[in-house]
Amino acid sequence: AKQSGRGVARVFDESMDESIRFRRRIEGGLAQALERGELSLAYQPIVAGHDLEIVGFEALLRWNTEEFGPVSPAMFIPIAEESNLIHELGDWVLDGALAELAHWPGQYVSVNFSPRQFRRHNFVGHIVERAQRAGVEPHRVQIEITETAIFDDADRAAETLYKLRQMGFRIALDDFGTGYSSLYNIRKFALDCLKIDRSFIDGMGRERESAAIVHSIVHLGRSLGLTVCAEGVETEAQVQALRLAGASHLQGYFFSRPVIAELARDMAAERYMH
Ligand code: C2E
Ligand code: CA
Ligand code: CA
Ligand code: CA
Repeated sequence: AKQSGRGVARVFDESMDESIRFRRRIEGGLAQALERGELSLAYQPIVAGHDLEIVGFEALLRWNTEEFGPVSPAMFIPIAEESNLIHELGDWVLDGALAELAHWPGQYVSVNFSPRQFRRHNFVGHIVERAQRAGVEPHRVQIEITETAIFDDADRAAETLYKLRQMGFRIALDDFGTGYSSLYNIRKFALDCLKIDRSFIDGMGRERESAAIVHSIVHLGRSLGLTVCAEGVETEAQVQALRLAGASHLQGYFFSRPVIAELARDMAAERYMH
């Protein structure tokens, strides 16, 4: 029994080693990704529920490495988030997304910010400066943050959001419904949009609970005067259910996957999703 116990311990140690080594390699690779030109941005259209006009695009970071192939942001963003690398990557994303606006007739760009970026000293000044430098009107920029970013230090977050909104930026609360926000508390925050997490849209057709949650988020958003964007819309049935429920914005593979900048420009010029 003792022997097998040691065996288990050794296997465990080795797999720990392995994952730490992997992390380090990702970290090292990320640090060089910028200068190596391995990063790019993909854009996914966000359409208005009533007429399927493309009103904006979400910018999503892509990393294609020689060593690992394409790496998902869901895997490398949390690693970058643990160091100052996130600021460098985030600035690159923001500048790229702002520059892209010049190629679209009027749509906004929605940019993801991690909690660490959002809590950065003088975040507002930073965003304002970069938008000014790019010659971009704030109302064409939507800032996506998660509940995690704002509920840890709610008072400070509320002030940051208030200032951003006063400057004219749009604010979206991403992955809404998955965090630990109380519905009561979201009144404190200057928001424009709730993005309903994909998991609820996915469950809509199968579980009554998901459909009920979607309906209550839409209702909540509307009664607070916010737009409500459903993420991860994949089927026609979901589109119909969401339009019926009153979701003001839709986003997902049903309309388009995130695409390279050049394709997004064509879509932006087309304006309507079919
Ligand atoms: P997110 O912000 O919730 O972005 C939505 C994710 O869902 C994207 O994955 C998108 O490609 C995917 N998606 C969109 N429509 C559908 C659909 O119909 N079905 C399914 N199954 N998936 C759909 P992606 O691009 O892999 O990004 C994953 C996460 O990585 C993002 O989740 C976001 O949290 C983070 N991320 C991506 N780019 C950035 C960035 O520039 N900065 C920061 N801080 N985080 C980013
Ligand atoms: Ca997002
Ligand atoms: Ca999301
Ligand atoms: Ca997500």
